[in-house]
This record gives sequence, structure tokens and C-alpha cells, in this order.
Amino acid sequence: MNQVIQPVPPLDLTRQYATIERDVSAAVMQVLASGQYINGPVVESFSEQFGQYVGSKECIVCNSGTDALYLALRALNIGPGDQVITSPFTFIATAEAISAVGATPVFIDIELETFNFDPSKIAAAITPQTKAIMPVHIFGQPVDMDAVMAVAQQHHLPVIEDCAQATGARWQDQKVGSIGRIGCFSFFPTKNLGGCGDGGALTTDDPEIAATARLLRDHGSKVRYQHEAIGINSRLDAVQAAILQIKLQYLEQWNAQRQAVADRYQQLLSPITGVRPPVATVGGHSVWNQYSILIEGVTAEQRDRLRTQMQAQGISTMVYYPVPLHRQPVYEDLGYQPGSLPNTEQAAEQVLALPMFPELTDEQQNRVVYALKDALTAL
Ligand SMILES: *Cc1c(COP(=O)(O)O)cnc(C)c1O
Repeated sequence: MNQVIQPVPPLDLTRQYATIERDVSAAVMQVLASGQYINGPVVESFSEQFGQYVGSKECIVCNSGTDALYLALRALNIGPGDQVITSPFTFIATAEAISAVGATPVFIDIELETFNFDPSKIAAAITPQTKAIMPVHIFGQPVDMDAVMAVAQQHHLPVIEDCAQATGARWQDQKVGSIGRIGCFSFFPTKNLGGCGDGGALTTDDPEIAATARLLRDHGSKVRYQHEAIGINSRLDAVQAAILQIKLQYLEQWNAQRQAVADRYQQLLSPITGVRPPVATVGGHSVWNQYSILIEGVTAEQRDRLRTQMQAQGISTMVYYPVPLHRQPVYEDLGYQPGSLPNTEQAAEQVLALPMFPELTDEQQNRVVYALKDALTAL
């Protein structure tokens, strides 16, 4: 009789939900019964708890990580004619927020070891139009914030941290999101702290930025029906706040489980020639939102063939990001030529994200690595 092979998904949210189902259901029911669905005590208390968790004086919760980035840029009065230095190897939302306020993203190349933008390349990208630096802690791995803050301070530029994939990650003793002027977080379901829908937050120690972000989030209004600025409507639902409040209690534990999975991957993968596991920056503590490796020397076609072969053995992998932002059709006008950001382009061809979530079992991990080895020999 044939044994049924259970597929390994890239991410399994159902297993985690099963462990907290009772608490989450009760909290959601309570919100539903309360009749208070927008703002109110649950949103307030979650906002306070999340700010404390990050280590920032102020926390403004909102509808998404994208909105958090947009609000951060608006709160710093960044707009048309301004430039913001960021990474080309990230989800579109990072640059999209910059473009949405009318400013222009300026992309600098990444480091292949961490997939983060290379802080040593910031200074050369600064022009009189530069108004902010936006590091992205990609895949949960913190950017070298000592290096970023040093160049930012030298040039008197504010730093907006895109922490969407890095909730709980630390640089030295500080959580990401509390180091730059503003931190932006996403509670999209696949992030380390994910709700059952959209959500986001902005953290800062600066009371003025916090006040402006709050104003812009609420239609530019502090006093009802008095509007001081053109804002947006970006609230966190009370139902989401109730769910996130419960999940926040488990975040450290889940991140520790991700670390154990990453350590085990590192052990299993390091003997394999042609595979480069991610390298943690000294001083950084990743929270492993993704576990992305580099397959050395392959073309994008070969990498994709590898994926197909692994899929045939039930192993789902992902590619973040197949097209870097400087090569996106929407940014064609910026004029980046092929080869202009070589590490980024190499990463886009050779990167492969292996299944990563706190509940991934040893047995599943063994099968992932076995399938990868198999597919590599067949290349
Ligand atoms: C997910 C993500 C965002 C956007 O967050 P949403 O909540 O989906 O709007 C921004 N930046 C990065 C790096 C992300 O991964």
C-alpha cells in the first residue's frame, strides 16, 4: 500500500490558531457583544501594550503596514520633490508609500549575506533632496542600525524603519522600531504578529510626530467635524485588536520557535555545496519571518526548476522577490538599468524561501532539506 505523503506548506496558520482558538473566540465574542467595533478600550489597550513591547513612548495603530509607512512619511512632511533612500529588495509597499506621498524612492544595493540594504552605500546616495532613510528589516533580520544611525545623524536625516517582517527583532539591546525616528509594523496574517485580517502600527518617541500621525489617520481631525489636514481613514478594528492582544502574549515564544527552526536549517544546510544559508549580522537578533537561502551559481530558470522538483515531493517553497523594485515596470521612469544593483539582481535570481513557521516539525524540516538536496543533484 502506498503511504500518503503529507505536503509541507510554506506557512501553516491553522496549527497556531488551534492552540489559541478558545481565547481568541472568547475575545472576539466579547467585542461583538460590546457593540464597540471602532476604537474603544480594546484598541487603546492593545496600542499601549504594543508600544511597550517595542519600547517606544507612542504607538499609533492603523489599518495596515502600508498605511503606517504612508503616515510616517506624511508626519515627517515628506512629499513631491523629496527623495527617500531605501532597499530595492522588499515588498512593493515600502516604495509604494514613498511614491504615494509624491516623493521618489532611491534604491541602494543589498548585501547577499543578509538581503538587507548595505548601510555603507547610503552616504553616496544622499543628495540635497534626500529627506529620510528607510531601512527594511527584511525577512526578520535587522539591518545594522549602528551604521544607519551614524550616517543619518551625520546628515541630519530621520530614519523610518520598515519593521513589517521583523516584529520582535532586536539590534543590540533595542527592538527594531524603537531605534529610528519612526517604526512601521504590519499585522498582516503572515507576519510574526499577524491578525485575522489587515492591521498595522507606527511607533515613535516623538510626541509631535505621534500627534500628526494620529491626526492624519483620523481624516485630519482631532475635534469631530473639524479638519486641519487632508488625512485618511486608517483604523485598526476592535476585533483585530482583541486578537492581536492575545497573540502578543505568545510572540516571544513563537519567535524563539522560529529561531530553533532557523538553527536547525543552518545545521542541516551548511554541509551542502551550492547552498548559502542566511548569515546573521553580529549584534542582530532575527525573528525569521522568512528563511531565504541563496542557491549559488544558478539562473532564475534553474532555481525555478529546483522549486518544481521540490514541489513534486510535496515541498512548497517561495521566492521573495523575483523582480526587485528598481526593475519593476512602475519604476521604469527612474531609469535603473539591468546590472545597476548587481547584488539585488543576483538575489532575485538565486533566492529561495524554505518553509518557515514556528510549528514546523523536525520531520518536515528533514524532508525539506532532503528534497532540496535531491533537486540540486538533478539540476
Ligand atoms: C507586508 C509588508 C509591508 C506592508 O504591510 P501591509 O500590512 O501588508 O500593508 C510593508 N513592508 C514590508 C517589507 C512588508 O513585508
